Formats: sequence, C-alpha cells, structure tokens
Amino acid sequence: MYFNVSQLLKEMGGAFRTYDVNDFASLVDGAPMTPISGVVKMMRTDAGIWVSAQLTTYVDCECSRCVADMEQFVRMEIEEEYLPEVDVNTGARLNFPDAMAENFYIDQTHMLDMSEAIRQYFGFSMPFKPVCSDECKGLCLTCGADLNDTSCSCDNVIRDPRWGPLLAFALPNEPHYN
Ligand SMILES: [Zn+2]
Ligand SMILES: [Zn+2]
Repeated sequence: MYFNVSQLLKEMGGAFRTYDVNDFASLVDGAPMTPISGVVKMMRTDAGIWVSAQLTTYVDCECSRCVADMEQFVRMEIEEEYLPEVDVNTGARLNFPDAMAENFYIDQTHMLDMSEAIRQYFGFSMPFKPVCSDECKGLCLTCGADLNDTSCSCDNVIRDPRWGPLLAFALPNEPHYN
C-alpha cells in the first residue's frame, strides 16, 4: 500500500492528508493479497510523517474449536512515524541519529509504503485462536463429533492429573505494607 508523500513533505508541520482506502495487502509474508479498507491520516511532523490508520480486513481461517472454515474480522489501529531517507527539497540523504532499526522510512522517490506496518499490526491484531462464534462448542475430544450439530455420550470431564496436587495449596495471603 503506497502513498506518494512528496507534496506533504514540502508542507509545514501539522499539515495533513486523509485518505479513504480500499486496497489490497499481503498480511503475512508470501500470502495472497487480501482486501483492506479504512481511513489513513498522514500528518507532517518535524522529522517526517505521522501515520494514523484504522484499517479492517477479513481473513479466511479455521475455527480453533470446531475447525469449520470461517472469516475472521480483523481491525488494525496503526500509529507510526515514517522518516524520509532524503530531503524532499535538496535530495540530500538524511540522518536521524536517534532512529532505531524498527523505524519506518519513506524511500528516495517519496513513496511511503505501509505494507510492512500492516503485516506487523496484523500479527498482533489477528486473534491467536479464532472462533466461529463465542458459543461454539467445538469437537468432542474423544470421538471427534461436532458438538454444535450433535451431542455424544462420551465422558469428557477433565481430570488432569497434573493439577491434582496443586489444588491442595491455598493461595497465599497478599503481602501487607504498613
Ligand atoms: Zn467453531
Ligand atoms: Zn464424543
């Protein structure tokens, strides 16, 4: 997802642009392009451009409980400052002594590429265990029946022997600071 920011870079701090986005991005390295939509606001800062974006997408995945195919709605709230590699007026290479490896950059043709930020924010916005519905009952651990469609007669009371001895310990009292 690219934006040409050469004009915005020539403006004063505080100048901004707002874009309605209907675009495609690869959410995971090597994955096919997925539709993304939302609003991107870009504001000129002293050093570069501050990007505030609210983006949403749907990804195809499997329910972590019943393994049915499902679509997961994912919302990303991106807040990042992008630093220009070159001065937009002179073309001189810029140095940011305090910049860190994880900073994002605007390339020498003044294109701001949000692809990497989208991948990173997708990584922490996508639920680790997606579920088709909060009420999904999942599969029977014993016979594999889909408990949303049917019930089975398996005895699935969990008796995990690892916890038995620990249950005997009461939680310690909270410390007091007098
Ligand atoms: Zn499910
Ligand atoms: Zn069963």
